[in-house]
Amino acid sequence: MLKDQDRIFQNLYNDKGSDVAASQSRGDWVNTKEITEKGRDWIINEIKESQLRGRGGAGFPTGLKWSFAPKEVGSRPHYLVINGDESEPGTCKDRDILRFEPHKLIEGCLIASYAVQAHVCYIYIRGEYFVDGQKLQTAIDEAYEKKLLGKNAAGTGWDLDIYIHYGAGAYICGEETALLESLEGKKGQPRLKPPFPALIGLYGCPTIINNVETIAVVPTILRRGAKWFASLGREKNTGTKIFCISGNVNNPCNVEEEMSIPLKELIEVHAGGVIGGWDNLQAVIPGGSSMPLIPKDRCETLKMDFDACVEEKSGLGTAGIVVINKDQDIIKCMARIARFYKHESCGQCTPCREGSGWMWRMLERMAKGDATKDEVDMLGDVTTQIAGHTICAFGEGSSWPVQGLLRHFKKEIQERNNLDPIVQKKNNIPYLVDQHLLDKKNA
Ligand code: SF4
Repeated sequence: MLKDQDRIFQNLYNDKGSDVAASQSRGDWVNTKEITEKGRDWIINEIKESQLRGRGGAGFPTGLKWSFAPKEVGSRPHYLVINGDESEPGTCKDRDILRFEPHKLIEGCLIASYAVQAHVCYIYIRGEYFVDGQKLQTAIDEAYEKKLLGKNAAGTGWDLDIYIHYGAGAYICGEETALLESLEGKKGQPRLKPPFPALIGLYGCPTIINNVETIAVVPTILRRGAKWFASLGREKNTGTKIFCISGNVNNPCNVEEEMSIPLKELIEVHAGGVIGGWDNLQAVIPGGSSMPLIPKDRCETLKMDFDACVEEKSGLGTAGIVVINKDQDIIKCMARIARFYKHESCGQCTPCREGSGWMWRMLERMAKGDATKDEVDMLGDVTTQIAGHTICAFGEGSSWPVQGLLRHFKKEIQERNNLDPIVQKKNNIPYLVDQHLLDKKNA
């Protein structure tokens, strides 16, 4: 378990105050100038050595991403954009950083902006987080007042202005290029890549986009050293992570823990255990709704990090852990998730626009026991025709949960959709059966 002295977010539960004075007493803004004096190469190398991977879902190495920014500023300015859209169901970690640890984020923005040579930083926050955005704005105002932002920010010699921009509630605006489109005042639809935003991003200028949590941990890494951060967790899965635990647990919570912590420990120790006990566990979604579920037997030993989740054919994603116990109808749960993705598809790509509706409708039929046998295979086909055939990763995000269901709960689907009325009756679900077949069976 993570030791208290290794905790980066010491005010995650807002018991110590989030204003600048309280933040400084916890070590924020202490030696920002000394850090920047070491130079941008040193900063980028240190972040590379810490093996910090993006906390927004994709897990891309942060230092490497920063190194993609052009070395010299040409005719186009550089921008830093912070992704605080946080629309992934099951995820609510960035929200607590925005409202309870805003100065960690603001200081991180200054250091990252210096490293990638940006004088303007936009923080894109989902519209529903309006109150949290206001708290962040108060912290930004405080920072300007204390000369931690603006001209010669924090005495670093670097000028930086930060602006908050609110989204309007579309899930897809969490995808980095859709976010840029939205920031530019257009409809939030993903762009084709390449070109990548590091070269052609906001307003066609070099832009580095990072998640809130990723940037908020940067000052502490640089202060305590890459070696300290890399000593937590394991190779390529280093540091600490805020896990959001929700669903059928006794105490849903956000908790910062060491990367690679066993899933069972997270649920039992921090979330008060599964409702009905561990044996009542059915499956867990480990990284937000777009990641495939993992059934109970695999959850026994699963370690929560990027590579371990991939080995289980799932992903750490945003570390939004959704616990599903045996009281839930797993097919219905996945149908509900499929409905969400059908609703949120931006509609640019045919496989995603049409396929997400197909998946939802088939799953609804399966949940009711109305599906035909060949529909189970057809559902698998639809998922493979979406994933890998679209502009953005939404295609994978919408089909992976369905693939997870088919991988681990195919038997349940087949049983429920068996044409044998006895089986359907046993499951106590609405069904359409030829009445004379039922009468014949009961005769
Ligand atoms: Fe839009 Fe879906 Fe295509 Fe992404 S995959 S661009 S969300 S239609």
